[in-house]
Amino acid sequence: MADAGNTLDGSRIAAEIREDVSQSVADLADHGITPRLDVILVGEDSASKVYVGSKARTLSALGMISHTHGLPEDTVQADLQELVDRLNGDSEVDGILIQLPLPAGLDTAAILSRVDPSKDVDGFHPENVGLLQQGSPRLVPCTPAGVMEMLRREGVAIEGRRAVVVGRSDIVGKPMATLLLHANATVTICHSRTRDLANVTRDAEILVAAVGVRSLIGPDHVSDGAVVIDVGMHRVTDRDTVERLFPGNAKKMAAFEKRGSVLAGDVDFTRVAPKASRITPVPGGVGPLTIAMLTANTVTAAKLRRGF
Ligand code: NAP
Repeated sequence: MADAGNTLDGSRIAAEIREDVSQSVADLADHGITPRLDVILVGEDSASKVYVGSKARTLSALGMISHTHGLPEDTVQADLQELVDRLNGDSEVDGILIQLPLPAGLDTAAILSRVDPSKDVDGFHPENVGLLQQGSPRLVPCTPAGVMEMLRREGVAIEGRRAVVVGRSDIVGKPMATLLLHANATVTICHSRTRDLANVTRDAEILVAAVGVRSLIGPDHVSDGAVVIDVGMHRVTDRDTVERLFPGNAKKMAAFEKRGSVLAGDVDFTRVAPKASRITPVPGGVGPLTIAMLTANTVTAAKLRRGF
């Protein structure tokens, strides 16, 4: 199978998506419209702060408006609801995103259901989940939407092929499987109770790992020629683990020496890449697509509300 040349470059594809979004923003500007996204960040989680900062910068760079509402860790449900209600009713606001995870004690499902579905840029509201299920998607969760966009732009055939999604979360696994099904793949979903996982995943012509377990998917899980998409993201801070995961990889070791950590995925990239026909790296694979699709969804929401 192909080697380094088989890598799916998420950063490049995300740049292409942002270019398209930038054109849409310019078109809306001709109508006097500047899309605006409001992000609600509750608590002090450092990773969440980094993600929110990155989202805000990307939107601003594309000429959109981004407002972040930081709320304290001890925020109660009623206060969060009040903010969501206010943003729902604010005609200046096109998109609302609630950064997850919320601190313990807050009801995530209840607050996601409270967001005006036409402003639900994460696609988590039951109405948007239902529309996706029915095959009439409106606002689709950013990560699986980004994976589909990558497959489409890279000319990866889906129709009639066997796709296996490992993971059944509402955020990634379920919508990913639904999108592949609507693209006429024959879809299997695996989860923590799946027996003999490798036996199922080896059947995949397209394999999507969204598990949250580092390097779970090894060469024994993958058939020669499979397209492998790695949604997982893990920070590795232990030198021995980095050396084991990326033997002889001078670039990874240099990154580790510089930052004290490197990112790895749910797939053992080093050992799986030689078998795969195409494979996403971590970082630089699915991650950049998620934010790119958030910018696309913000434009979609801005258009939807105005009947474009
Ligand atoms: P999640 O909510 O924790 O769901 C994980 C899923 O994997 C669950 O359905 C679970 O099964 C299944 N699972 C866990 N262990 C398993 C095993 N040993 N064998 C088979 N299935 C197993 O995670 P998530 O939110 O979907 O995220 C998955 C990964 O993607 C994480 O690493 C996360 O950081 C990453 N992520 C990345 C992006 C991005 O932009 N790149 C975006 C979102 C998430 P059960 O349902 O039976 O528990």
